[in-house]
Amino acid sequence: MSQAVSQHNAQPVPFKAETRQLLNILIHSLYSEREVFLRELISNASDALTRLHFETLINREIIDPETELAIWITSDPQQRILMIRDSGIGMNAEELSQNLGTIAHSGAKAFLEAAQKGDTKLNDIIGQFGVGFYSAFMVADKIEVESRSYRPNDSPARWISRGEDTFTIEPAEKSERGTTVKIFLKEDAAEFCDENRLRQIVKKHSDYIPYPIYIGNEQE
Ligand code: ADP
Ligand code: MG
Repeated sequence: MSQAVSQHNAQPVPFKAETRQLLNILIHSLYSEREVFLRELISNASDALTRLHFETLINREIIDPETELAIWITSDPQQRILMIRDSGIGMNAEELSQNLGTIAHSGAKAFLEAAQKGDTKLNDIIGQFGVGFYSAFMVADKIEVESRSYRPNDSPARWISRGEDTFTIEPAEKSERGTTVKIFLKEDAAEFCDENRLRQIVKKHSDYIPYPIYIGNEQE
């Protein structure tokens, strides 16, 4: 069990060196098409819904079996917060720490290699392949991921990071299954609170997603 989980006390956990390098580049990135972060988060939500769907076929021990498989995007312009929620497979504290603590994503690895070589291909890589979850740090000062696994005995947990050197994991109160990614937007990223802008990005980059995506209160 990782330190973060066994202690259960929100001690900062250092990111792996390569993750820190990636975050450092992204956080200072001036990439003009950073809207692709939303595609990455929606794609993760969609993967989580598909995994949940398969789980329902082979497993009866699932919480919220009747909940609609969908993605909800909401924002709070006053506080500059954007939230992407799914009713997918969810993660416990251990999984949050594992999955959001290291770079597994091939696009992210290619990006980091290109960046370290000083290539000018960075924009191409972010645009075409994305850099996965961490691309949200192009627009975020801070990210909180609150999640509850489909497994009845797993407790909900929260992953928090400012994209600097560390993340923390703490217990959370979340009654429904799935994951909510809460993005505290950078000052220059307020546009991503605007529902029309969000709708446009979803149309452009996430049209192929096989689950309903609700933006605000309307179905997309
Ligand atoms: P990739 O999607 O290529 O694996 P990401 O960086 O996008 O890489 O995501 C890392 C991992 O975090 C995923 O593989 C998954 O295990 C986990 N993850 C991210 N978002 C979610 C989510 N909404 N629900 C469940 N697991 C997630
Ligand atoms: Mg992904």
